[in-house]
Amino acid sequence: MNILVITEQREGHWNPVTFESLAAAQQIAAQTQSTVSAVVIGKGVRALADELAAYQLAQILLVEHELLEHYTPDGFAVALAQAIAQAKPDLVVLPHTYQVRDFAPKLAASLGKGMIGDCIGYRHENGRLVFVRQMFQGKTAADVTFTGPAPWFATFQAGAFRGDQAVRSTSPAPVSAIQVTLTPEQIRTKPLELFREAKQAVDLTQAPILVAIGRGIKAPENIPMAQKLAQLLGGELAASRPICDEGWLPMDRQIGSSGQTVSPKLYLALGISGAIQHVVGMKGSRTIVAINKDENAPIFEVADYGIVGDIFELIPALTESLEGK
Ligand SMILES: Cc1cc2nc3c(=O)[nH]c(=O)nc-3n(C[C@H](O)[C@H](O)[C@H](O)COP(=O)(O)OP(=O)(O)OC[C@H]3O[C@@H](n4cnc5c(N)ncnc54)[C@H](O)[C@@H]3O)c2cc1C
Repeated sequence: MNILVITEQREGHWNPVTFESLAAAQQIAAQTQSTVSAVVIGKGVRALADELAAYQLAQILLVEHELLEHYTPDGFAVALAQAIAQAKPDLVVLPHTYQVRDFAPKLAASLGKGMIGDCIGYRHENGRLVFVRQMFQGKTAADVTFTGPAPWFATFQAGAFRGDQAVRSTSPAPVSAIQVTLTPEQIRTKPLELFREAKQAVDLTQAPILVAIGRGIKAPENIPMAQKLAQLLGGELAASRPICDEGWLPMDRQIGSSGQTVSPKLYLALGISGAIQHVVGMKGSRTIVAINKDENAPIFEVADYGIVGDIFELIPALTESLEGK
């Protein structure tokens, strides 16, 4: 198979989930004896293509055009359809970002193809690829596969693969510029000023250790206690939704179906009940440690280590032992 990864950059900076998609494509390729190429799309993005060339890729297709300077669903769909016609991939892999959600269904539909969106994994079974998607807020997972001829489109959820596992190469991959035809009339929307989210202090999806607090923390005055523990562990502070809804922590710290999806090495859940909407955002963590005073709290169903206890006793005890007191 030929696998094509459509990368995402904004104003010359990578969206880090690009490397998660790259890792996903490389892992699929290793199991299916396939090759992986990547598309870099925009204007003035050659430097990014050159940077990408350090990864184990058959080639990098550089799609540049005056009308691609600012993202528009029409511009991207029209240009990428031409890139796909030239590259002839069997599988097109994308990160499941807001931007991809905007243009990828249109791109797939314009080619008469289907798209399997928001996948959390895949299996290679009896010679075919089966993609896994969560359904009903993560209560169950569905196996989905493609019918009909390639190209097939699949997007992967942030955190489903680890970007640091994208394989680099010792020799740079070739970068080929692809000419695309695009006219202003084809673009029916006019991009306005870029929406800037509240300045994000940290990208929780990239943090190796997360200390997450829930309603069990009781009051904002108690948050510094958890913050200190996070610092001592070399991690970041995260939270369940009520903590962010109350404004005790900014929204970008929220984990779950309406927050971020993360898969750190260690997820320490403090006073979090384990509602399904929270669990969908963190159950991919490598090791989950939960502290909750209710032994029946659902968080213990996904925890690798569960401690039935009071966080107001255990946080200071952990802090003291980390400080070597
Ligand atoms: C459409 C929708 C989307 C949602 N999206 C999200 C989302 O993205 N993220 C999210 O987190 N939630 C989300 N929710 C909310 C979710 O359903 C839960 O209400 C929420 O996750 C509960 O947060 P919590 O565990 O902090 O609080 P609670 O459910 O109130 O749990 C608090 C826990 O702390 C324990 N506790 C209390 N005191 C102590 C103590 N001293 N020591 C130890 N343990 C203690 C209790 O036993 C309890 O288990 C969503 C809900 C809806 C309907």
